[in-house]
Amino acid sequence: MIRQTNYSESSRIITILNEEGVMVPLMARGFNKPKSSFIVLRQGFKEALFTYNRFKGIGTLNEVDVISHFKGINEDFEMFAYGSYIMEYVTKILNDEDVTPKDYELLMKAFKLLEKKDENEKNATTAMVAAKLMPRYGIEINVDECALCGSREYNVFSHYSFKYHSVVCDHCLDEETLERSVHIGNRIIYLAAYMKNARLDLINSINVAPENGRKLLKFTELIYDEYAGVYFKARRLIT
Ligand SMILES: [Zn+2]
Repeated sequence: MIRQTNYSESSRIITILNEEGVMVPLMARGFNKPKSSFIVLRQGFKEALFTYNRFKGIGTLNEVDVISHFKGINEDFEMFAYGSYIMEYVTKILNDEDVTPKDYELLMKAFKLLEKKDENEKNATTAMVAAKLMPRYGIEINVDECALCGSREYNVFSHYSFKYHSVVCDHCLDEETLERSVHIGNRIIYLAAYMKNARLDLINSINVAPENGRKLLKFTELIYDEYAGVYFKARRLIT
């Protein structure tokens, strides 16, 4: 479920994201009544099996069986903030024309990683979502080879250039090529390339140092600020 709004005193319209990546609006009658069977949906993020009737337009929700309660996220203020931020990245680009199951898969993968907060780094998990969604926001970054000499040696990458929209290797850095470039660090560039290129189903853990996770997220945020200029409300909740 991605959002909900009150429809009447007793009913709500909820919007769910299904496995195909389609947003489905559903009327949940009696939602606000104390003994409603939809009570599980009132708070927090949930993965659930929704049974509903829908021909077109708003469907009618019949039953809900929760698959994941995401307690690790919902019961921890900080993790909830990260969950909200991830949700915002995904939901902002959802539209009826450009539907793909990948949006659902990405969201579920990120939440499952975030849920295991001791095993996966929260900033890096968020950065993975940001990196994977870049093409959907019309962002194309080159973190794979130097814009000038074509080198693919990660150990000589330290700067990202907003002039070349690419990494520039240390051998090619001079006064001119340094213009509009920022120091990112080679470990962070390597991680960004991994998040961008690795197949989602092969990413089963994101175990990086918190400091690197923070730097990686800062880098993806810098890219979004420069190229997409989108405002994410939940970003200010993240420290
Ligand atoms: Zn170079």
